[in-house]
Amino acid sequence: MGDRGGTVAAGAEMSADVAVVGAGPAGLYAAYCAGFRGLSSAIVDVLPEPGGQIAALYPEKKIYDVAGHVAVRGRELVDNLVAQVAPFHPHYLLGRTAASLTLDEESGWSVGLEDGGRIRAQAVVIAGGLGRSVPRTLPCLRPYEGRGVAYHVPHLDDHRDRDVVIVGGSDSAVDWALALAPIARSVTVVHRRSSFRAHEHSVRQMYATAGIHVLTDTQVTNCDGVERLEEVRVRTGEEEVTLPAQVLIAALGFITSLGPIADWGLRVENRQIAVDSSMRTNLPRVYAVSDICTYEGRVPLISVGFGDAAIAANHVAVELLPGSPLAPEHSTDREAAPLL
Ligand SMILES: Cc1cc2nc3c(=O)[nH]c(=O)nc-3n(C[C@H](O)[C@H](O)[C@H](O)COP(=O)(O)OP(=O)(O)OC[C@H]3O[C@@H](n4cnc5c(N)ncnc54)[C@H](O)[C@@H]3O)c2cc1C
Repeated sequence: MGDRGGTVAAGAEMSADVAVVGAGPAGLYAAYCAGFRGLSSAIVDVLPEPGGQIAALYPEKKIYDVAGHVAVRGRELVDNLVAQVAPFHPHYLLGRTAASLTLDEESGWSVGLEDGGRIRAQAVVIAGGLGRSVPRTLPCLRPYEGRGVAYHVPHLDDHRDRDVVIVGGSDSAVDWALALAPIARSVTVVHRRSSFRAHEHSVRQMYATAGIHVLTDTQVTNCDGVERLEEVRVRTGEEEVTLPAQVLIAALGFITSLGPIADWGLRVENRQIAVDSSMRTNLPRVYAVSDICTYEGRVPLISVGFGDAAIAANHVAVELLPGSPLAPEHSTDREAAPLL
């Protein structure tokens, strides 16, 4: 307890009171609640930045149903969660996969990372959301991954003055097109079907927006470029055209699975971790919260995930700090968040 947190080098071993798997909204809030109880945490996430689904899929969208916010942009909610937990100095292990979970009688839980690193912790909170998501792709896109082809748009401004091709017909494809239209040099949406599987209002807006070129019944057949992506070839019926494109955003959806967590000996029901009303799993001092967990009547919402996280972290405090009450003191009783 009491160290300054920060980022942890690849392959390193480290210790914290609580290992949090998943840096989505629930994981960040679980680390905050643990910090409030005086417990240090290490937060591991496959993604290179915190925020989970919000950061990866809809950072620019407004969220209307988070308690206390009339409307909050996804990125702003994530930034606030990161700022809220910052006084407790969590260790961030981003771009890392939690691969294994083993119990050592003396040192407690050990979360093994795919890069060879290890987090030793007395308790574990699994906030893994949908688990591991692998983006759906097309064979011709693979050679340009990271060189123009992307599956997420974390920062709209990265695509300023670029020719952007967006592939897909989902809400994400339409939302990215609308968000990028005022920023990019050109935006072309390529969809293999004739109609979009997205909110009608957004689709109408997309068609009405000058600067968004929509190609339906059209498939991407080839990508080209020397160092980076320069052109995308598409086919509509018998006709093929080449589009200038420095960026291609593949919004083709994700294949999700529990990933390595499925092998940790947890009781799983319908690809979710079964928990009791304290968010306890079947393993001692291992909790699961938010979208990755299941209990009767659960609703998959951010606000519910926050509640799950608070319940889990306070139960962890009771287990790790003998004599501690379950209910934390009121935050209003503190002048400011204490610096550990
Ligand atoms: C387009 C869209 C719009 C939405 N709109 C709303 C809305 O308006 N209101 C609302 O309440 N909800 C909304 N949701 C749902 C909301 O985003 C989720 O309920 C919320 O993100 C769940 O939070 P979480 O922290 O449980 O999981 P996530 O946000 O999924 O984060 C889990 C994290 O765990 C990581 N992870 C998983 N397995 C491992 C592992 N083995 N090792 C390391 N890291 C791992 C993942 O990489 C991920 O970053 C929306 C979802 C989408 C897709």
